[in-house]
Amino acid sequence: MWPQAEPLTLDTQVIIVGAGPVGLTLAIDLGRRGLRCILLEQKAAPQFLPKMERCNARTMEIYRRMGLADKIRDAGFPRDAPMDVFIVTSLVEPPLLHLPYPSVVQAKAEIAACRDGSMPLEPYQLISQYTLEPLLKSVADAMPTIDVRYGCEFVSCAQDEGAVSARVKYADGRSVELRADYLVGCDGGTSAVRRQLGIKLQGESNLMQFRQALFRCDDLFERIPIGKGRHYHVADAQATFLIVQDSTRHFTLHAVTDSDAEMAALFEKTLAMPIDYEMLSVGQWRQNLLLADNYAQGRIYLAGDAVHLVIPTGGLGMNSGVGDAYDLSWKLAGTLQGWGGSQLLASYEIERRQIGANNVEASRQASRGRRAWRAAYKPNLREQTPAGAETRTNLARIANVEQRKSNEMIGAELGYRYVDSPVIWPQAGEGPEHDFMKYVPSTWPGARLPHVWLDDGTALHDRIGECYTLLRFAGSSADVAPLAKAFAAFGAPFSVLDIADEMPRAVYGNDLLLLRPDLHVVWRGNNLPDAAKLAAVATGH
Ligand SMILES: Cc1cc2nc3c(=O)[nH]c(=O)nc-3n(C[C@H](O)[C@H](O)[C@H](O)COP(=O)(O)OP(=O)(O)OC[C@H]3O[C@@H](n4cnc5c(N)ncnc54)[C@H](O)[C@@H]3O)c2cc1C
Repeated sequence: MWPQAEPLTLDTQVIIVGAGPVGLTLAIDLGRRGLRCILLEQKAAPQFLPKMERCNARTMEIYRRMGLADKIRDAGFPRDAPMDVFIVTSLVEPPLLHLPYPSVVQAKAEIAACRDGSMPLEPYQLISQYTLEPLLKSVADAMPTIDVRYGCEFVSCAQDEGAVSARVKYADGRSVELRADYLVGCDGGTSAVRRQLGIKLQGESNLMQFRQALFRCDDLFERIPIGKGRHYHVADAQATFLIVQDSTRHFTLHAVTDSDAEMAALFEKTLAMPIDYEMLSVGQWRQNLLLADNYAQGRIYLAGDAVHLVIPTGGLGMNSGVGDAYDLSWKLAGTLQGWGGSQLLASYEIERRQIGANNVEASRQASRGRRAWRAAYKPNLREQTPAGAETRTNLARIANVEQRKSNEMIGAELGYRYVDSPVIWPQAGEGPEHDFMKYVPSTWPGARLPHVWLDDGTALHDRIGECYTLLRFAGSSADVAPLAKAFAAFGAPFSVLDIADEMPRAVYGNDLLLLRPDLHVVWRGNNLPDAAKLAAVATGH
């Protein structure tokens, strides 16, 4: 409850707790929309600690819309470096399995040639979390409506019908209360905001505990005899894997070991060649598969690891959180700008919690896959005997199917669709099945608009602004005036985009598509339904 009875002026529109990648993304996207927010971070500054390194294709599409994709690529893994994944005994012996994946340059060429909507507009990008966070922070720092406060810990919050307050503590011991229209907890797996709301995580925790050591080794990447790549999984009893970080001079080694000291020995054993290196840090992390019961309570919302924890190797952790931030941002904007109805923000939990559940499940499948090929490891793996050869062949055969589940999650990345959302027009029928490893382009309401190129070489995604957009293809005689009027009645931004090209119409399968600012389909068809009803559903009234 409120500590004071009298209404006070608000300090800002949105308080964001936590400047991890999710909180920073949310702050920047709110800032782009002209909203005021205060971003609170308990750390004094971003830290040089490795965690995520893969922004998936959808995240890169989102960052492209935010004007950040090129900046992120410039700071990340070289555009021409291969993304191959290896299963090895060491970096000098022939790999047991080599899964080649295109570099960013090659993937962009494939995307440029693709005309059927089956590929993303942006390929994925490797960038270490310790590079991404300072980059996003510098963008947020430069935005006039974002007040970035590091060294500032969220302690508690309270809310009533009109506002939310947060008690925060600065590093010098000062404690103040901040007030805002909304608060979003992006404060990670141990979220104080979530705990304060009494929202529980369900699922499996502490499945495995890994040590992660960070090494600097300037020459290694150029010298890896078996070939350059991004991940090297070692077939051993410690579940060891080596990840190349974005600079290609830093490497993280993950393994189940009893002591920090063992990590250096394991690094040397994996490299199996004399090379200078420095071990910079060792930490521990645990595998969890957890989903929060709720993503919101009143004026307080939760996003990112605060509400879903996955096993990171498939790269769905931060990426799911960026999706949360992007879904929540325009809904907060619509509500604060006065055109969003009550269902707009209510739809956040409905839409994003189902994606959290899908991604926890995809992560479970991927991790089962890795466990399946690791279970084929036997101590005779390196022996030059028929039995050793059989172990190697068997492990490689299983890994060739099972390891792909971690690396090829294009369905989870692009194919998610918001089902039973109150702000998506219901279409009769079942809708396409969700398959985390397969992406089939679809404009079924709730889906992300498949990326297509226009005849002039531009991407249709890039032609769509930050408003509701009705795509109208050549040949449609639909009168769009009633829909424009209906959106105007709510004060909601709306525009019509006429497309004469034939290819998008063929991929999308309909003359008309109504899109949201986040490029998800609200409605599709050849004849408009009741315009007032459609605009009301889309805007959450
Ligand atoms: C080894 C490893 C590899 C991974 N690889 C990938 C990958 O390739 N791709 C991927 O998508 N994900 C990956 N992940 C997962 C990814 O790192 C997380 O999902 C991501 O960091 C979540 O972002 P977040 O912003 O929600 O939370 P966090 O990154 O945890 O950020 C939360 C922030 O909130 C701050 N905070 C917490 N409490 C308070 C408080 N009371 N007051 C103020 N501030 C507070 C914290 O200091 C922190 O900065 C990996 C994780 C690990 C461990």
